[in-house]
Amino acid sequence: MDIMTLKRRLEKSDKKYLWHPFTQMKDWQKETPVIVSEGRGSFLKDITGRWYLDGVSSLWVTVHGHRKKEIDDAIKGQIDKISHCTLLGLTHSPAIELAEKLIKIVNSEPQPPKLSRVFYSDNGSTATEIGLKMAFQYWQLTGAKSKKKFLSLNNAYHGDTIGAVSAGGIDIFHEIFSPLLFKTYKAPSPYCYRCELGKKYPSCKLSCLNTVENIMKKHHKEIAALIIEPLVQGAGGMIVSPHGYLKGVRRLCNKYNILMIADEVATGFGRTGRMFACEHEDVVPDILCVAKGITGGYLPLAATITTEEIYKAFLGEYKDLKTFFHGHTYTGNPLACAAAIANLELFKKDKTLRKMQKKIEILKKGLSRIAELPNVGDIRQKGFMVGIELVKDRKTKAQYPLEEKIGWRVCCKAREKGLLIRPLGNVIVLMPPLSISVSELKMLIQITEWTIKEVMGKF
Ligand SMILES: *Cc1c(COP(=O)(O)O)cnc(C)c1O
Repeated sequence: MDIMTLKRRLEKSDKKYLWHPFTQMKDWQKETPVIVSEGRGSFLKDITGRWYLDGVSSLWVTVHGHRKKEIDDAIKGQIDKISHCTLLGLTHSPAIELAEKLIKIVNSEPQPPKLSRVFYSDNGSTATEIGLKMAFQYWQLTGAKSKKKFLSLNNAYHGDTIGAVSAGGIDIFHEIFSPLLFKTYKAPSPYCYRCELGKKYPSCKLSCLNTVENIMKKHHKEIAALIIEPLVQGAGGMIVSPHGYLKGVRRLCNKYNILMIADEVATGFGRTGRMFACEHEDVVPDILCVAKGITGGYLPLAATITTEEIYKAFLGEYKDLKTFFHGHTYTGNPLACAAAIANLELFKKDKTLRKMQKKIEILKKGLSRIAELPNVGDIRQKGFMVGIELVKDRKTKAQYPLEEKIGWRVCCKAREKGLLIRPLGNVIVLMPPLSISVSELKMLIQITEWTIKEVMGKF
């Protein structure tokens, strides 16, 4: 069968049988999808042989590039031993070895080691859901039984299961489900460009932290934990918090005896230029949730990592039922753990974080050019996490209405030019693999600039 016939056949079957995530399928029916057949480094190839730059790391997961030999080999090697083994009542060496490695890297200098226990699951939503349940049960077991609620942030995203959605703060995703959700206290989003308190940084002196404190002061007896995406609220629009905010949150959690859950599902494993975003402000959470980049973008795996203090509260006689009754069938899958071990080793071998620093500066410089364009309202960057917020009017910050689908239009145009990116509403997201080369990075910036100019010229 020739390629175009095969492509048409696949496209027809896709549209007949598949239901894509976060996708209006009515629109999808009209689209010509890219059918990916291969990947290499920072690029993806479609079935017709055309290559595209993977500008969002296959939705924020790819670390060292596609088809990275060391990770490929680790998975192949593990396949020849065993592909799955449960962690319920059994254990295996990839899960053990990875846990040991994770504990080493999550306890960065100069902080004394505090995080000591790894609880596996298989995606970001379950990692945060586990964090919430762990925090809840911890207080039930230690006698503070009134601590049953959570504090989270507007514009937060912690995943799509009911608990994770309850802690989330993106109305367009969550509103329909509100009758199913448990109530959480909500603090303002540290979104300086559209400050909820109507203030300006830095003259505000981080007054959004005062709001957090007021909620805590009033309700700390009921609040089990605060959950936060450290430094960058990802799905909420790549909202970068001002310096000192995260540290302030940690200080308030200590002051009011509230556990801090750091959702580093997106920011973890080098995304922000450090191994974990919390390191930028010397913060150690009580519970750390990781997923996306953990396997280098190869296989589903997640971990919820906590302290010995929390872990110990769950110890008791079998009949006491202090056990953490939670677990997923594919928890700690050996293939995924093997990929994750290879991923972590590559950070050292390839000096990934060190090599990134120069590229972060190049990206920053390129973005400052894009910031000059007439319909670019705000550009936010932390390491390799970038949000370009498009606005109808720079002066008033007026937003494009949903029906103009402006972000989507820009991404469609970018695709014609060989770049695959995916927007968050009116925010164009750039999230290249950490291994991207300087010339590929310049190509990413250039195509983004041309595309925004071209699409905006038409509005
Ligand atoms: C993607 C994401 C999640 C959810 O992860 P899934 O693997 O998609 O369930 C949770 N929190 C943050 C911060 C994320 O970016």
